[in-house]
Amino acid sequence: MLNSPRHVPVLVIGSGFAGLGTSIALEREGIDHVVLESADDLGGTWRDNRYPGCKCDVPSHLYSFSFALNPEWSSTYSSQPEIWAYLRRCAERFGVLPRIRFGTRVLEARWVERAQRWRVDTSAGRWTADVVVTATGGLSVPSVPDLPGLDRFAGTVFHSACWDDAHPLDGERVAVIGTGASAIQLVPSIQSRVGRLLLFQRTPAWVLPHGDRPIRDWERSLYRRLPAAQRLVRAGIYWSRELLVLGLCKDRRWMEPVRRLATGHLERQVPDPALREKLRPAFAPGCKRLLVSNDYYPALSNDNVDVVTDAIAEVGDRWIRTADGAEHPVDTIVLATGFRVTDNPTFEHLRGRGGRSLAETWREAGMQAYLGSTVAGFPNLFLVTGPNTGIGHTSLVVMIEAQVRYVLDALRTMRRRDVAEIEVRPEAQEAFNDELQRRMRRTVWNAGGCASWYLDSRGRNTTLWPDFTWRFRRRTRRFDAAAYELRDRVAPA
Ligand code: NAP
Repeated sequence: MLNSPRHVPVLVIGSGFAGLGTSIALEREGIDHVVLESADDLGGTWRDNRYPGCKCDVPSHLYSFSFALNPEWSSTYSSQPEIWAYLRRCAERFGVLPRIRFGTRVLEARWVERAQRWRVDTSAGRWTADVVVTATGGLSVPSVPDLPGLDRFAGTVFHSACWDDAHPLDGERVAVIGTGASAIQLVPSIQSRVGRLLLFQRTPAWVLPHGDRPIRDWERSLYRRLPAAQRLVRAGIYWSRELLVLGLCKDRRWMEPVRRLATGHLERQVPDPALREKLRPAFAPGCKRLLVSNDYYPALSNDNVDVVTDAIAEVGDRWIRTADGAEHPVDTIVLATGFRVTDNPTFEHLRGRGGRSLAETWREAGMQAYLGSTVAGFPNLFLVTGPNTGIGHTSLVVMIEAQVRYVLDALRTMRRRDVAEIEVRPEAQEAFNDELQRRMRRTVWNAGGCASWYLDSRGRNTTLWPDFTWRFRRRTRRFDAAAYELRDRVAPA
């Protein structure tokens, strides 16, 4: 550990969409900062998720920074390599690459009260910072299921977010566990080259037809010459997607057209009645993320695919046994089992007032923050993509940009009022969360009859924003100092 830590006014953790967006905003505002990144490249989830077929199921024109529209997208829904390249281009274009310290894992960030600053210990030495922004993302730590015997499996096991490119699946007996957004993209992409594909499905998802298509040359050239045209298309996508909030959060009857569309898709694409029944969901559409695919169902109809719906009882050296006693021989297991969202282990590493960690703070009542961005007991800490800032129907970048703007306005307020510390008042945080959970009760995520990563172990939805995203943007437009305790500098600078 270095004896004299380096000091920086703002320290950002993570360089995915959220961290990069924060860094670009800070750079534009002329605020000195660093971005700590544990990996050797930027991109967050779009660097890590490289499984075959990985694409974004939100349209490209909306799934990008509003200030850096990309006229070059090759299709209406972009692939992972294209999004990753876009993020690298943004970092270069806005001059923030030199801000990023790669290969620097945060071991602990601790608020030091008498110094009124954060002390951040990393794998590459110590930093201190007046303000910390964590932008480590909700979907960053893979969830590995607790399957008896999994550790004794003698074949290969990897998670969808840690794809092993060096491992050829050709001709193998491959088990894919999970049928969420990752699985439905990777299954059709590997089905034709594996020998046998066993898809272990616990809960079938609602799958809608995909509207993906290549963007034509004339469209790209139009967007290049007339950026307003692309902005118009983006606005059209944004507002049409906001309509889904009516069905997700206000009145479930609005989801009926979605149910009909998905049911028709299933009937058309799966001719075998037995398979079709296995794939028919039994919960309200939207309760889990709505999935889109034109090749998932056809892939499952192939002779080399089995959809196994019996629960996994045990894993052996080269097999998986299900609750019905059947033993399925397997060479490789792909865990498409999602992420640790509400129990993310990075919560242990952030320690606020009195040395209390975020994990301890949230252990009793679950994750909660004020406007998803600040937490009582954690002065000068901002969370970008914090609790209840997730969305299922539109682009997360919209929410990220709103939070970044909020952080920037907070920093301006601190400078203008010459305060050293800001901390959200517990009563403001509580009132905000009471209101949020009241709204949550009638949403399809809470009342739609399914379990999902949106809910924590107590059944509380601490991940999603239960309203139109424009309402969140409006609420975060200005830093509302009245909800905060503002403290003068007492420690020597
Ligand atoms: P996920 O939605 O959490 O799905 C995990 C799957 O694994 C579920 O089908 C789950 O079954 C199953 N599972 C978990 N533990 C299991 C166990 N012990 N035994 C059997 N099955 C088990 O994870 P994901 O597919 O990686 O997606 C996570 C999120 O990432 C998405 O909701 C989305 O926000 C994001 N994502 C986005 C895109 C995109 O295109 N934008 C693509 C991929 C992912 P149950 O349903 O029964 O729990």
